[in-house]
Amino acid sequence: MEKNIAVIRGDGIGPEIANEAIGVLDRVAELYGHKWNYTDADMGGCAIDKYGDPLPQSELDKCLASDSVLLGAVGGNKWNSMPGDKRPEKGLLRLREGMGVYSNNRPAKIWPQLASASPLNADIVSRGIDFIIVRELIGGIYFGSHTTNEVDGEKVAVDELRYSESEIERIGRIGFETALKRGKKLCSVEKSNVLDSSRLWKATMHRLAEEYPEVELTDMLVDNCAMQIVKNPAQFDVVVTENMFGDILSDEASMITGSIGMIPSSSLGDGTCGLYEPIHGSAPDIAGMDIANPIGTILSAAMMLRFSFDLADEADAIESAVGAVLDKGYRTADIMPADENEQKKCQKVGCREMGNLIKENLTKGR
Ligand code: NAD
Repeated sequence: MEKNIAVIRGDGIGPEIANEAIGVLDRVAELYGHKWNYTDADMGGCAIDKYGDPLPQSELDKCLASDSVLLGAVGGNKWNSMPGDKRPEKGLLRLREGMGVYSNNRPAKIWPQLASASPLNADIVSRGIDFIIVRELIGGIYFGSHTTNEVDGEKVAVDELRYSESEIERIGRIGFETALKRGKKLCSVEKSNVLDSSRLWKATMHRLAEEYPEVELTDMLVDNCAMQIVKNPAQFDVVVTENMFGDILSDEASMITGSIGMIPSSSLGDGTCGLYEPIHGSAPDIAGMDIANPIGTILSAAMMLRFSFDLADEADAIESAVGAVLDKGYRTADIMPADENEQKKCQKVGCREMGNLIKENLTKGR
């Protein structure tokens, strides 16, 4: 198979982790006889420095012309004082919107080897953590108008939160379809006790539920969900929610699995061209130190093979290689166990070495 992959390395640890994911993709190509043609695209702070724009049309066009996009991360302190529409993160929002990827899929699954890295107590962890957050990605408050005006002698800021029934329906269907392929339980998360957009969300989910009788639909308020994720994560199979709630809950869900550095994500629209990125940011505090965990990005590359290129065996091979490396006790700093005795059973490695180990452990048909 031959595919064109746009690569956005971005800022901070972005280039380090993206390079490791590319190394793993190249190893897969070698083993399975595929060919990947990479096109570099600039986005984020590096694009601001080069073009004065976080995502120039030329860079978006490179992504739109590709079969899929692999992204490291963008952002950093250097660009924090830029006006809202010129910040690195604006490039990311425009990329998602430009690609029409409305469905963001973030698995929260604990690797058994990392159970001791979870901040939750062993009893809760032993009941299992394996759920998916399906997050609406190109609507809601992040995409409404943002204004700051002077009113009665003081500044007043307004952010618009808007959802149409059709926007809710298309992400709702992804939630139900995802649940059908898993444990057939869908939890719809909103704030319908306060927000109109959430009341429309809830009503639309219940209307859709009639088309999916095999799926058990439950409703949960977002504040309760934040609590339930740490109290009893085993209760969740698939969670479907709007953009901002999904952003926050998925960071929380990643943390209970051990580290934000482990979690991949896929973003898809109606076609097969997707955007694949780890859920964390550019981690400026550890950039350039070769200590970042590249596994979230490597697993994002595996998701690309599975969901955009229909290469399940190759995706399985990457996931097995990650498991094998963890089984052997190799850990980046963020997933080292806190307990001293447990630490002795592990070997701390850097970003590059972790990437190399995963490549070495990649075998065809594992
Ligand atoms: P962050 O996710 O970058 O970092 C939070 C913490 O997690 C930091 O302590 C960091 O060192 C650690 N961390 C993150 N990824 C790690 C990895 N792979 N390995 C080891 N440790 C890791 O969040 P932040 O500090 O709030 O944001 C930093 C910048 O990233 C900001 O400019 C923010 O806007 C941006 N951001 C970008 C994206 C994206 O590109 N998709 C997402 C979130 C935040």
